[in-house]
Amino acid sequence: MSGPNTNYDPVEVAALAPEAVETARDAALAAIAAAASLEDLKAVRSAHLGDKSPLALANREIGALPPSAKAAAGKLVGQAKGVVNQAVAARQSELETERDERILIEEAVDVTLPAARRPLGRRHPIELMSERIADMFVGMGWEIAEGPEVEAEWFNFDALNFDADHPARQMQDTFYVEPPDGGLVLRTHTSPVQARSLLERGVPIAIACIGRVFRTDELDATHMPAFHQVEGLCVDEGITMAHLKGTLDTLASHLFGDGITTRLRPSFFPFTEPSAEMDLRCFACRGEDPNCRACKGTGWIEWGGCGMVNRNVLSACGIDPDRYSGFAFGMGIDRALMFRTGVSDMRDMIEGDVRFDAQFGMEI
Ligand SMILES: [Zn+2]
Repeated sequence: MSGPNTNYDPVEVAALAPEAVETARDAALAAIAAAASLEDLKAVRSAHLGDKSPLALANREIGALPPSAKAAAGKLVGQAKGVVNQAVAARQSELETERDERILIEEAVDVTLPAARRPLGRRHPIELMSERIADMFVGMGWEIAEGPEVEAEWFNFDALNFDADHPARQMQDTFYVEPPDGGLVLRTHTSPVQARSLLERGVPIAIACIGRVFRTDELDATHMPAFHQVEGLCVDEGITMAHLKGTLDTLASHLFGDGITTRLRPSFFPFTEPSAEMDLRCFACRGEDPNCRACKGTGWIEWGGCGMVNRNVLSACGIDPDRYSGFAFGMGIDRALMFRTGVSDMRDMIEGDVRFDAQFGMEI
């Protein structure tokens, strides 16, 4: 710039001329006022207050002035810098306020807008119905028992009084686990849990077992090779068929509502004597439509088998059949779900379509 001052005359230093300082100050003020963003303002501050700005250069010249001139020149430059600094601070505050207001508007969340919703999963209706059944039995003081799905042939058949040549043992009815003579089957009913529980827990006993069972049925609208049963077993002194009927009627009203009509129809099972089938009054026609598809015009829908525990089963499990008696039943849960919800095709239950679960996977 002007180099060392040798003549000690402040007027000779161009950068310190009052007009030059005013011009630098006014240029700075104009630039500050024109700064439209915080980034602009940062650049303006650097240009007009930074090391290479006219005011900084003028400030540096003061050092070379004679002592008598330093005070006036310092005041001149200091005031200019003060004014510019204040202007920067004021503009900075304005721009920050503007930015904050803009962020508030731009980033505001409109809570009234419809949200993008992920569909919620649902529990399978068979699971819910199984829990509902378990709750009822627990409420009556029964215990919940479990057994393996891959079961010993002895528990699945022999302990339940099936003859060695009983047709149910044949491969067209039963899934055998390799090797075929290894004595293991996929349980064809939940009844082996009866034998297991009698052996493990002894008497008196009241247990319910809810689980999957397997038969070599073709998959169609009313049959599945894997389905669900609720098994019940109650053995004590003085148990009669009246207890059986009362228990199943309670289960029916719990699942299908009060006023449901049931009936026992004579039947045969190796592990109960006497044996019966329990039927439910047809939901669709109440027995008044001979062309009803639900009951095929009979007015009744089969629900499951039951009876008094065969003496041979009690003996096989080490229980004195002259002292103790009991009843047992095995009811289809999938079938109960069909009645309860009007599902007409069992295949819908296993296809895994979430719309099915969404429709029926809730408790009412
Ligand atoms: Zn009917």
